[in-house]
Amino acid sequence: MKIDSSEISALIKAQIKGYESRLETDDVGTVISVGDGIALCYGLDKAMLGELLVFPGDVAGMVMNLDSEDVGTVLLGSDTKIEEGDTVKRTHRVVEVPVGDGLLGRVVNALGVPIDEKGPISYAKTRPIERIAPGVMTRKSVDTPLETGIKAIDAMIPIGRGQRELIIGDRQTGKTAIALDTIINQKDKGVKCIYVAIGQKNSSVASLVDKLRELGCMDYVTVVSSSASEAAPNQYIAPFAGMAMAEEWLENGQDVLIVFDDLSKHAVAYRTLSLLLKRAPGREAYPGDIFYLHSRLLERACRLAPQYGGGSITALPIVETQAGDISAYIPTNVISITDGQIFLVTDYFASGQRPAVDSGFSVSRVGSSAQTKAMKAVAASLKIELASYREMLSFSQFGSDLDAATKKILAHGAVLMETLKQKQYAPYPMWRQVVELFAVKNRFLDDLKPAEVGPYLQGLSAFVERAHPEIIGVLTEKKAFSDELTASLNAAIAEYQASR
Ligand code: ATP
Ligand code: MG
Repeated sequence: MKIDSSEISALIKAQIKGYESRLETDDVGTVISVGDGIALCYGLDKAMLGELLVFPGDVAGMVMNLDSEDVGTVLLGSDTKIEEGDTVKRTHRVVEVPVGDGLLGRVVNALGVPIDEKGPISYAKTRPIERIAPGVMTRKSVDTPLETGIKAIDAMIPIGRGQRELIIGDRQTGKTAIALDTIINQKDKGVKCIYVAIGQKNSSVASLVDKLRELGCMDYVTVVSSSASEAAPNQYIAPFAGMAMAEEWLENGQDVLIVFDDLSKHAVAYRTLSLLLKRAPGREAYPGDIFYLHSRLLERACRLAPQYGGGSITALPIVETQAGDISAYIPTNVISITDGQIFLVTDYFASGQRPAVDSGFSVSRVGSSAQTKAMKAVAASLKIELASYREMLSFSQFGSDLDAATKKILAHGAVLMETLKQKQYAPYPMWRQVVELFAVKNRFLDDLKPAEVGPYLQGLSAFVERAHPEIIGVLTEKKAFSDELTASLNAAIAEYQASR
């Protein structure tokens, strides 16, 4: 047989061509190594940052590192079925979650998959979990209150719709309780709520959902849960997924409240996966972009201008401190990103002063422009009065012989502290807070013993509701004091005093 060399070279050339075109299919790569929820892949030259990849067994992965040789991916599922040499495919999509009203009343994981055994979620749309925050020109300043229903907060640290207010304190100081009461208080107020649980026990999330169901609040709430048992990547994307869900409602002109419980655990999850991706550690071993991580998340909370729909996202991130140290890395970061903080202290909480809000360290930088006139009138001097009470209190421990003025400040301060106590799951409507604070401000209670303050105020609210509903009507409608209202309120309180 005669061999034609040109034939052979043509064959070889054809083979090489085919080989080259196979190399160009950079939509498919190979797993180089896998472990701890991280997979390094080779051959995905065109992969995008944040792109969703599909691994064997339909495990999803998200591209986090684009290196010259390989692509670092975090796995959003179990890595046990993935092996070295497996193929991995691009999807050309970034990570997205379902959005819309179908999510209301549901508990989902960080990818928007239901975990509440109520069947699949009906949705028509998905949104990418990362998005650039609305720009300056599309925003509007805060002017509508977001009432928490908690006296100590609505009076001294008011929150407006579109604001970012940090809830910060040691473990077990009632942080979750404040966020939960705020959600409960949004019933029939047209604010949709999203509670994002990051790195919590499944049992804690379950009891929170049970409580919301019991109080009939689940129909305007979505719970996004990425529990402590889930891998760090899932915990890392959970708040972004919640934010994407909130943005859908925002763009439809609605008001949304989103709680991140808590960002300390989120930071730890991000640190874990950053270290596994071999990124350089910085202060407290957190990666250098941890500030950017939380600021790009919280910047997405906003109040839009009317021509852009006028919706709002109010964010209540929670951060846990160690021994009250607010100058640690993550607390200072998040304090500087947010518009104020509600600082909870262990000493108050332990001594029964609940909610354990420290009025000195707590601040709301923009909320006072959203506070109603009526509330402003009764709450304006509260912070100062409490500050002078605390000052006198430490001072009075040295001397036993106190002058009358000091005694007066101490008595009034003690009444104030009692007034600010409030039970859990019992948010107060605005009128009730105003009536109680009005009575305190006008010194109707200064002769009472601390233990009598609570029952007195409870009785007063019940009395006003029963005998003077017109006062409630005026307060709810006008949200401000007139001479007439002041007089009738004074008269009502006097009448109540006489009937006791
Ligand atoms: P963790 O650090 O574990 O997340 P936390 O700071 O979120 O704790 P919570 O779980 O909200 O604290 O509250 C701790 C406990 O205190 C709970 O049992 C809660 O029911 C109780 N508690 C919170 N607020 C009040 C309150 N105002 N009155 C009475 N009990 C309260
Ligand atoms: Mg908590």
